[in-house]
Amino acid sequence: MLKCDYGNLHREVSLLEAAGAESLHLDVMDGHFVPNLSYGAMVVKRIRELTDRILDAHLMISDPGRYLDDFVDAGCDSVTIHIEAVPDPTELLHAIRQQDVVAGLAINPETPVEAVEPFLSLCDLILVMSVEPGFGGQKFIPSALNKLTRLRELSNAQATFSIDGGIDLTTVGSAAAAGVDICVVGSAIFDSSDYRASMQQLRIEAHSCRQAAAL
Ligand code: ZN
Repeated sequence: MLKCDYGNLHREVSLLEAAGAESLHLDVMDGHFVPNLSYGAMVVKRIRELTDRILDAHLMISDPGRYLDDFVDAGCDSVTIHIEAVPDPTELLHAIRQQDVVAGLAINPETPVEAVEPFLSLCDLILVMSVEPGFGGQKFIPSALNKLTRLRELSNAQATFSIDGGIDLTTVGSAAAAGVDICVVGSAIFDSSDYRASMQQLRIEAHSCRQAAAL
């Protein structure tokens, strides 16, 4: 939702629902962990009132523990924190799960797999950043796919894998072939005039590349 029209949030949510979006990915930035500021739990709460789709909060903030309850109370179904912000996320991942919320851990392009490896069993969702966090519209970093493959090998079968950054018609296929479960898409939908058509094209491309990879 980073690239959506915040002046027309209600309309944007309706268009995304009509386009078939399964979940809404909410990029929360604090101006400290990443340079940009976006929005906090109050806006998430309003989005919750507008939709029953899955709300997937991606906390690009330095002190996620301080605000965790606010995001849970706002109605997030999933809360993802960054390993770079919380080098030992054991307590926080437990706390998220205890609230019956999906516990996610995100990893930046520069961070090695070893940083998250000890905590994989505590994660319901692993989010691999395929751009530097903090800005929309960046170019996809292909090495993220190797990281995704390695993390899938190391992780338990239940974890869901998500990729975030630079996903469009030219990159969605390689992400799908690498076995990703969720593609976070921003510009490729919001910069188009027809969200439904854009999402459908992305799905077709992802499915055909996934099938080709499985052959
Ligand atoms: Zn994100």
